[in-house]
Amino acid sequence: MANLENIKARKTLDQIQPYSPGKPIWEVQEELGLERVIKLASNENPLGPSKKAVAAIEQGVLGLNRYPDADASDLKMAIAKEHGVEKNQVIPTNGADELITLISEAFLEQGDEIIVPDPSFSEYDFGAHIMGAKVVKVPFAQGFAFDVDAMIAAVTDKTKIIYICSPNNPTGTYMKKQDVQKLLDAVGDILVVFDAAYSHYADADDYTDGTEFIQQGYPLLTLKTFSKIYGIAGVRVGFGIAADSIITSILKVKEPFNVNTLAQLAATAAVTDHEHVTQSREANNDGREFLYEAFEELGLPYTKSMANFVLVKLGDEGEALYQDLMKKGVIVRYGKGWGLPEYVRVSVGTEEENEFFVQALRELIQK
Ligand SMILES: *Cc1c(COP(=O)(O)O)cnc(C)c1O
Repeated sequence: MANLENIKARKTLDQIQPYSPGKPIWEVQEELGLERVIKLASNENPLGPSKKAVAAIEQGVLGLNRYPDADASDLKMAIAKEHGVEKNQVIPTNGADELITLISEAFLEQGDEIIVPDPSFSEYDFGAHIMGAKVVKVPFAQGFAFDVDAMIAAVTDKTKIIYICSPNNPTGTYMKKQDVQKLLDAVGDILVVFDAAYSHYADADDYTDGTEFIQQGYPLLTLKTFSKIYGIAGVRVGFGIAADSIITSILKVKEPFNVNTLAQLAATAAVTDHEHVTQSREANNDGREFLYEAFEELGLPYTKSMANFVLVKLGDEGEALYQDLMKKGVIVRYGKGWGLPEYVRVSVGTEEENEFFVQALRELIQK
């Protein structure tokens, strides 16, 4: 009889921590016997999906006997047009998460290094670990500002990828355009992956989503997603934009039918639904302001955000408050996983959800 203990996964998998998503609404409802539960934990669009995307899916279901377009041609064209780049500079993927894995598979050898500001999105580490590459973390400066000089100083001859998440998840801070320029000029021939998942929410004059640097010929890849402002997280679409030589390398490790038919149709419709984007952005601006005011009133330090979430410091009671909020039917994201045990990250919800959250928090803090 064979011994199952001898069936061993690759050593590098020991490095991988399973991703912990926010608890789903139904689970909290069931566990705690609550009727009303709101989820402000995954930065989804609280207004719902683009209606044009929903209509496109409804139209598309009768064609499901066919395989998807392996080239995702219509979607590529729509994205290219929207960003002022060529079609062969675009790669659509099964969520931006898949793209991070594909980039890792295409560019990282065992022992290579990636540079990641800390704390940031955990998928970058995941991609490095599956390839046996090393993650070099560079802490943020005061107020979670990007420390560009420290990032430049962290470069070694093993550095293959530098990740910049801007606006950064979970801090909401962004890297100023002049700092992106400085970093690109200092590091030379290193791939910079610029995660602009929240770019639509960023309204600072000196914000860049990185596309302009691609147009100038820098080795930068901008990554975006349909899961946030476009409101179609459930169908899983993301995409990358970069020089066609970089895209060609990533295409080599992509499965042929990575973006399903309904996802392609929905994303193609959503990318030109400017009305839905504008509405979502305006609602988010109002919601962010509402949360800022509430945190000020409650004396809670928070970080000004360019995204659709706010990182707020609850102090020593952070974990207890996170749990107590859940008992009141509010799911937020606890900061411990980012090394921020005194913080939670709150997604901006609808007006009603934001009020429900603030009321729950007020009751807990002022009790
Ligand atoms: C949500 C998110 C993504 C991508 O999400 P997908 O749903 O996989 O497209 C990428 N980067 C950051 C920083 C995110 O927060």
